[in-house]
Order: sequence, then structure tokens, then C-alpha cells
Amino acid sequence: MAQWKVWIMGLVLVVLSGCSPLTVHNESVGSTTILRADGKLQVLFLDVGQGASQLLISPSGKTMLIDAGNNDKEQVMLDYLKQYQITKLDIVIGTHPDADHIGGLDKVIDQTIVDKIYMPKISSNTRTFESLLESISNKKLKVQTAKAGLTLDWDKEVQVEMIAPAAVYDNANNMSAVVKITYGTTTLLLTGDAEAASEKDMIKSGVDLSSTVLGVGHHGSKSSTSLTFLNKVKPQYAIIQSGKDNNYGHPDKTILSRLKKAGASVYRNDLQGTVSVISDGKNVTIATERKEK
Ligand SMILES: [Zn+2]
Repeated sequence: MAQWKVWIMGLVLVVLSGCSPLTVHNESVGSTTILRADGKLQVLFLDVGQGASQLLISPSGKTMLIDAGNNDKEQVMLDYLKQYQITKLDIVIGTHPDADHIGGLDKVIDQTIVDKIYMPKISSNTRTFESLLESISNKKLKVQTAKAGLTLDWDKEVQVEMIAPAAVYDNANNMSAVVKITYGTTTLLLTGDAEAASEKDMIKSGVDLSSTVLGVGHHGSKSSTSLTFLNKVKPQYAIIQSGKDNNYGHPDKTILSRLKKAGASVYRNDLQGTVSVISDGKNVTIATERKEK
């Protein structure tokens, strides 16, 4: 290799290492590659367009995947797992059987070592759901029922509690598994598509809902994030997973202003791409793939 090429590569490395150690900024395309934050708790709200997926990496490197976007995001999900060097998922949670949550899960299960899988006790007659059950069966996994009151064994420093569904609902969204993650003094609440009825039952259950970070329910639809629930959660940061120009009007304007009034800083996949939340047990830092819009 010519001497000048070596010199330029060295320069690029120096420039890159001068950035924040958790991201690499690429000025030409205006985006930032979010890196793994080893030794901390990292929750990546992956940009899967109109859908939801959260990848969690614990301080000791344990992994958890909650949902995996829609069917057309299978390859996107596999690429994300590769990007974050995930070959094994200690816990997989399919929050509820809607395609925008479990669509990509079948391929993830086919291609990844999975230890435990949790899903609520509600089925669906869609091809998407059947395909997921096939993948689970092929891997000889046994689905554990997602419901309120479970404590999940993940990382000894991080407490993982399932706080919903606390009852049985006809509405699949309300059957969403809701997970509360506590690390040191920081808490994240990941709510799937849980709507007001489930929120009411979570409040009734007496669980402490106050959280540093709220994964906003149902893509910011006005079916969720009721004022009483939000007043209990009191999040500093709120992350909304919705796709650009989606047909549902997500996120709803009422919810955006409700979150703002509650004092939460709002981050959105549709505007900022993947959102990374990192906790060292005391403080939370947020990085986004793109600057707003
Ligand atoms: Zn959804």
C-alpha cells in the first residue's frame, strides 16, 4: 500500500476516534452509527419503520430482544443483530401477535440462538403468527406465558419485571407484555401496544410505575399514554417507535403535547432513526442515528 494511503487511513482513524466513543458520525450522509456500549445497560429502539423493536444489552453482555418489526423487516433485523454482534438472545419477547411486532421474529429465531421466549396467552390466525410458531417449534423452544408478576432472570445487576398483561383482554393490544427494567436508580418501561385499559390495571396493581425512560405505548396512538398513566410514570425521556408518513396518524398530536407538558424529552424513530438509551445505573444518555427530520 502506498505511503500516502496509509497516512490517510491513519488520519481517518484519528478523526473517528475523536468523536463520542459511542457513536461514529458520517457527515456526508448526515447519520451516526450507534455503537455497542459495553459495560453499561443499552436499550436500542431500532428503527423498523411502522412497527416496534427494542434490543437490550446488559452490563455483562446479556441480550434481550423485544419484538422485531413487520414481515418486510426480517433482513433489517438480521442486519441489526449482526451490527451489534448478537449471535445469541438470552430472552426474546413477542409483546403481542400483531404483525408490526412479531413479523420479523420468525427469521430472527431461525438464525439466532435463543434461550427463552415469552409471549402473552393470545393467539392469532394470521400466517405471520403461524410462521412464528413454526420457527419456535423448529428450534424446540417452549413459549413461556408473558403476564404481570413475572421476574425475568437476565443480568444480576438489572431487574426485569413483567407488569402486564395484568388481566385477560379481548383486545390484542391490551394483551401486550409490558416490561419494567431497573438498573441502579434508572428505570425503563417498555409498553408494547398496551392501551388505556391495561394502563389502568397496571396502576391498580400498585406497581411503582415511575420511570426514567418510557417506550411510548402503541406508537404514540391516542389509545394509550392516558394522562393518569403518564402522571404515574413521569418519564424524563419518551421514545416513540413509528414510521414516516404512516397511515395511522402515529404519533398522535394530543400524545405529543401530553408528553411535552409532562416534561418528557421526546425521541422518535420516524424523525431520528434508531434511538439508543444508555444507562450506567445513575445517568441516562441518549444518542440518535439522525438529527431531527
Ligand atoms: Zn403496533
